[in-house]
Amino acid sequence: MKQVDYIIVGCGLASIAFCEQLRTNNITFIVFDDGSQQSSIVAAGLYNPVILKRFSEVWKAKEQLDIALPVYNRIEQDLNIKIDYKLRILRRFSSIEEQNLWFNATDKPKLEPFLSTELVKNNNDALDAPFGFGEVLHAGRLDTNALIDAYKDYLKQIKSLEESSFIYEKLQVLPHSLIYDDIETQQIVFAEGFGVKKNPYFNQIPLNGTKGEVLIIKAPKLNIDYGVKSSVFIIPIENDLYAVGATYNWADKTNQPTEEGKQELISKLKTFLRCDFEVVQHLAGIRPTVKDRRPLVGRHPEHQNLYVLNGLGTRGVMIAPYVAEKLYQFVENDKPLDSEINIKRFTY
Ligand SMILES: Cc1cc2nc3c(=O)[nH]c(=O)nc-3n(C[C@H](O)[C@H](O)[C@H](O)COP(=O)(O)OP(=O)(O)OC[C@H]3O[C@@H](n4cnc5c(N)ncnc54)[C@H](O)[C@@H]3O)c2cc1C
Repeated sequence: MKQVDYIIVGCGLASIAFCEQLRTNNITFIVFDDGSQQSSIVAAGLYNPVILKRFSEVWKAKEQLDIALPVYNRIEQDLNIKIDYKLRILRRFSSIEEQNLWFNATDKPKLEPFLSTELVKNNNDALDAPFGFGEVLHAGRLDTNALIDAYKDYLKQIKSLEESSFIYEKLQVLPHSLIYDDIETQQIVFAEGFGVKKNPYFNQIPLNGTKGEVLIIKAPKLNIDYGVKSSVFIIPIENDLYAVGATYNWADKTNQPTEEGKQELISKLKTFLRCDFEVVQHLAGIRPTVKDRRPLVGRHPEHQNLYVLNGLGTRGVMIAPYVAEKLYQFVENDKPLDSEINIKRFTY
């Protein structure tokens, strides 16, 4: 029988952030992943402390960034990869009224560190932006694909990755340990994203799931090294490639890209992109969203050593390391979870 301290189910942003807590505290673990969910892989990877629709602060933006960036930067060093790209993000204004709303927002103490007070004029013929842009500070893009690939390679090297489905029925919950096949463990953290719907221990948590589609376009004449947010985002990747996203669909819960999603993105893009482009890739995934827009973290009501780390919603990059740390402190050091993120806030 193999002995490990933890089993983690899932290898997306939530899981990796929790693995980092374990790895840096010399705690042993095995990760299961079957590739059934795509959210972390297709994510554009943007981290941005401001809600750009309403010019308001993302929940606990500063606390999240203060925890998240050092975690990603340590992974970069330890795995010898580059994943964190600082990125200017320009919010395109559609009217003078929007410009005014922006400048009003720059006066709010919580937003002030994140919003530039200078109006950025458009000097790029490929973009239509007669009212200019506002610049978001302290934003960036995490290359989630590179992170997940490199992290899985690392886990394989240390023989801690099982590339298969975790079959819930095979789990034996004993009074003082958990047995799964030939593995004996003390704790299990379920971090399956929308896949939690199939988990009999936690499928009652109120996770909605919002499908998102994204296009990768090639636009040689666009030539920008900053991200633009208008009705959709354009995010530079490399070699004239840009991510364009994203859609929000609450009805369809499949990972398949749709023609409808593609056309929606193209028509929104064409409202402000003036140069030719070619769609080279089309991706989709289900964001693990929650009605009250807070994560779902906590302990199973009956089985003391089963935990859930989920509900990262539309902003998994910033929030994952923050909630992973909270869960780690809860399990290992008995630090209570904030009621705002604890699954106990719901009766289900
Ligand atoms: C189109 C799109 C664009 C996005 N853009 C951004 C963005 O720019 N910035 C941002 O911060 N966030 C973005 N997001 C949101 C972000 O992707 C999510 O918040 C985050 O990825 C969720 O991570 P997770 O680890 O909880 O879930 P997931 O990424 O879904 O990972 C869960 C993992 O568990 C595995 N799994 C599930 N069930 C099982 C099982 N039984 N056995 C084994 N493995 C299992 C799955 O295969 C998967 O690998 C975007 C999402 C989408 C869809």
